[in-house]
Amino acid sequence: MPMTLAPVRSAATATGLTKVYGSGATRVVALDEVSVSFRPGEFTAIMGPSGSGKSTLMHCMAGLDYATAGSARIGDTELVGLSDRALTRLRRDQLGFVFQAFNLLPQLTALQNITLPMDIAGRKVDQAWLDRVIGTVGLSGRLSHRPSQLSGGQQQRVACARALAGRPAIVFADEPTGNLDSRSGAEILGFLQNSVRELGQTVVMVTHDPMAAGYADRVVFLADGRIVDELSLPTPATVLDRMRRFEGAGRTT
Ligand code: ADP
Repeated sequence: MPMTLAPVRSAATATGLTKVYGSGATRVVALDEVSVSFRPGEFTAIMGPSGSGKSTLMHCMAGLDYATAGSARIGDTELVGLSDRALTRLRRDQLGFVFQAFNLLPQLTALQNITLPMDIAGRKVDQAWLDRVIGTVGLSGRLSHRPSQLSGGQQQRVACARALAGRPAIVFADEPTGNLDSRSGAEILGFLQNSVRELGQTVVMVTHDPMAAGYADRVVFLADGRIVDELSLPTPATVLDRMRRFEGAGRTT
C-alpha cells in the first residue's frame, strides 16, 4: 500500500533559530532562539525596530545566510546542513524574492527578466500561470520595455512577477516598498496581497511600515532578536498601537 504523507502545514518554519555575528567585544546576537512558522496561503509581515533582526530572520529562513544554531525549514526541507549548492538550488526552485532594490538586469526586457530564473533553471514556463501573474501585476503593455524605460513602481512590479513566475512555495519580500513613493508602494502591496488571495501564494514580508503591514494577514513583531508579539488581521492603526506599546516598554528615560 502506498504510504500517505501528512500534508505540509507550514510553508516555512524556524525552531530555536539563532544567529550570532562576530565574537568577543563585537559579538551581536541578531536572532535569539526564534521559533515561528509561516502558513501556506498566508501573507505575513515581520515588523520591529531597526536592528531587531528582521532581515537576519528572513535571510536565515530563505537560505541566504547560515544560522548559528537551531533549525530552518522550507516545507519539509531542513536548510541547516545543506551545501551552498543545494541551497542555491532550493532558492531557485522553491523560493521567490523581492528586495528593496529591484535587482533587474538592465540589458534584458521586462519579460526576459521575469522568466530569467526559470530559463537559468531550464524549467518550462507555465504560460497560463505566467499570463495570470503578468495580468495581476498589470504589466501586459510593458513586457518589451527595458528597466531604464520603466518607473520605479513598474520595475518593482517586474520584480514581483519574477518572484511569482515559478510558482514558488514561498515569496520573501524585504522592504519591497522602501524605494517607492506611497502610491507605487500601495500598488506593490496590493499585488502581493492579490498573489496570496487570488493566486494562493505564500508571502513573508519584512517591513518597518505599519501601512505596509496592514496589507498582511498576520504580523509578527521582533525586538532584540526575539519574537515579542503577533497580531492577526492587522490594520495600520492596530499595528501602530502595538508598536507604541513596545517602544514605551523599552524606553529607559
Ligand atoms: P533589521 O533588519 O531588523 O534592521 P538586522 O537583521 O539587519 O535588523 O540586524 C540585526 C542585528 O544584527 C543588528 O544589531 C545588526 O547590527 C547586526 N548585524 C546584521 N548583519 C550583520 C553583519 N553582517 N555583521 C555584524 N552584525 C550584523
